[in-house]
Amino acid sequence: MQVLSRENCVHTFSAAHPPKYEVDDGEVFWVEAEDAYRGEMKDPSVLRPHIKSTNWSTGPILVKNAKAGDVLCVEFLKFEFADQGAMPTNIGMGLLGDLIDAPTTRIVPVRGDYAIFSDDIHLPLTPMCGVCAVAPPGDEEYTCVWPGDFGGNMDTTKIAPGARLYLPVFHDGAKLFIGDFHACMGDGEVSGTGIEIAGRALVKVSVRKDIALKRPVVETDEAIYFLASEKTLDEAVRVSVLDAIHYMMDRLDLSFQDAYRLFSIACDTQISQVVDPLKTARARVPRFHEKVGKL
Ligand code: CA
Repeated sequence: MQVLSRENCVHTFSAAHPPKYEVDDGEVFWVEAEDAYRGEMKDPSVLRPHIKSTNWSTGPILVKNAKAGDVLCVEFLKFEFADQGAMPTNIGMGLLGDLIDAPTTRIVPVRGDYAIFSDDIHLPLTPMCGVCAVAPPGDEEYTCVWPGDFGGNMDTTKIAPGARLYLPVFHDGAKLFIGDFHACMGDGEVSGTGIEIAGRALVKVSVRKDIALKRPVVETDEAIYFLASEKTLDEAVRVSVLDAIHYMMDRLDLSFQDAYRLFSIACDTQISQVVDPLKTARARVPRFHEKVGKL
């Protein structure tokens, strides 16, 4: 089985990066990733202002058989983490950064299945992948803190073991980037970080040619989530809900008004993150009928 080393990593998403790895359609492989600070934040003396670039992501990974217009499925099977992660705060960082008057860093050890936040606060790990992107359309280039229709820094807690992330493919070979693992994170990522940690993920990639997508979708065993990243949370909620409604209209042969009603009673709007350059919302459609809840 291939192990894709974290040595080949970038801090921008762009189709211009030459591929560093190549995988087959249907291949299962390990992908290593640096933590968001590329290992620089080893102890509390290293503060956020000392770090220049963040969210270093492994790749690009060329996926054979993926063509522009296809959909790439990235299934996350398992995560393994280093023995500690970092959580900086900084002036202006996160939702309440205006209330921070000086940067500090907390190192959080990981022991077994728990994160040791403090002597008496031990949290069960909630492993997730913060960054998973394909190369953005055309010659667009974004630093790896950006989310978008190409995926990227979506910081979605649902991109966790067992989840399948579907991304629209904009370039032949897809050019996949993976990084920014979190040992724990809550919805919203309000302080601007999860427990930022190096590690590796066991993933399976496959190419779907029978469906088309404009934006990322996450599928779990209990629901499907339509993701949208927009300038405001209001707009992200609107775009994600509209995608979910169109999906239900198609699957259940409903009018817009009935799908609108159905979303209101059976589905949920949820927040992925409110701290990145665009905000990410998700619309959750549970498997309340055999025809919905999966792609
Ligand atoms: Ca992130």
